[in-house]
Amino acid sequence: MSESVQDLAATGGTPVRSAPFPDVNGPSGRRIGAEEIEAVVRVLTSAQLNSTVGQETRRWEAEFAAMYGIAHAAACSSGTAAIHLAIAAVDPDPGDEIITSPITDAGTVLPIVAQNAVPVFADVDLCTGALDVASVEAAITPRTKAIVAVHPFGYPAPVHELRKLADRHGLVLIEDCAQAFGTLTDRGELAGTVGHLGCFSLQQSKHITCGDGGIVITSSADLDRRARLFADKAWPRDTDERTHLFLGLNYRMTELQAAVARAQLAKLDSIIADRRRAAARLAAAVEDLDGIRTRPVDGSSVWLFPLFVDPLTAGVDGARFADLLRAEGIPANPGYLQRPVYRAPFLAEHRTYGSSGYPVAHTEYPEGLCRNAEELIAGRLVVLPWNENYSDADVDDMITALRKVHRLASGR
Ligand SMILES: *Cc1c(COP(=O)(O)O)cnc(C)c1O
Repeated sequence: MSESVQDLAATGGTPVRSAPFPDVNGPSGRRIGAEEIEAVVRVLTSAQLNSTVGQETRRWEAEFAAMYGIAHAAACSSGTAAIHLAIAAVDPDPGDEIITSPITDAGTVLPIVAQNAVPVFADVDLCTGALDVASVEAAITPRTKAIVAVHPFGYPAPVHELRKLADRHGLVLIEDCAQAFGTLTDRGELAGTVGHLGCFSLQQSKHITCGDGGIVITSSADLDRRARLFADKAWPRDTDERTHLFLGLNYRMTELQAAVARAQLAKLDSIIADRRRAAARLAAAVEDLDGIRTRPVDGSSVWLFPLFVDPLTAGVDGARFADLLRAEGIPANPGYLQRPVYRAPFLAEHRTYGSSGYPVAHTEYPEGLCRNAEELIAGRLVVLPWNENYSDADVDDMITALRKVHRLASGR
């Protein structure tokens, strides 16, 4: 008996998988154990919960900087805060422009607006979802101050080319590495060390977590000093003076967060290695599928596993592909976002400060602004949740389902 469309789970067939997969939102998909428990107890026992009195946060910064082989690391309370520290360190004038990506978490963009600069969106490469260098170059104006490049899903963005472009135009390059702990660029450098500043998140879903948290790395003592002052009310605690040197906020990490982050950092290498190994297994097994492309796994830390669907060749678009995969019991997210970041109301409808619309009142963010980003989201991109705790059998179920859906949905 030959296979037919009826065999798809979406049309009444038997799903490939019924058991749940390891999930970052619970114990099955996180490596939180005795080390983190000991860390929290250590801090509580010390009764030093604030980073201005304890040593955990300073040690977390030192250990992170050492791992990255970079001079400075400044801890903070979230990935969004980390981007805000970086933007504040750059210190744009109100109305200055900062170029960034339309396919990212809003945490990349909100701090630009909060710091009174105008986000300008360059388009992404249709094959990677990362910023397209030519599009960034075309977006540069006399008001441009910085570029924030995202390493989407843990796969490297073209930051060496962007750094060259930034240097040529006197701009600062910020790398948003929230999804890219341990990611290597196409030249084998650690993502986050190519730009002037690199920003990381320790939110629940990232490679390592302390609930919420962030850190900013830089080789510049000046940028580091401004970033760390901004996170602590611009209070120069290394002097005896109780004063506030410029407009800053309180974005400090607590000692509890830092202690957990340190325990998690010790596990990062194995987390990345396991994510890569599982991803390489999947990538190799779907290489031959017409109209489905993956990215090389080598340097990626595989936060999510992106599939790039060419609807004409595959015979099915990304949105339908994701629906059919989900019916087979394989979690899959079409487009990663429902719309590009610039279509969220805070930008598209200028919902910022009161009724002023400031600083984007005179900037339009219409549909069609970034065609490739919109095409990816609407029908070419599918992301699979990824996890260090996936077994070979888990990945094999994904492979079976992907091949089944590809075969049957296109009528092959
Ligand atoms: C998660 C994330 C952020 C924001 O980090 P939070 O810790 O959630 O504030 C920023 N940028 C990217 C690319 C992210 O994935």
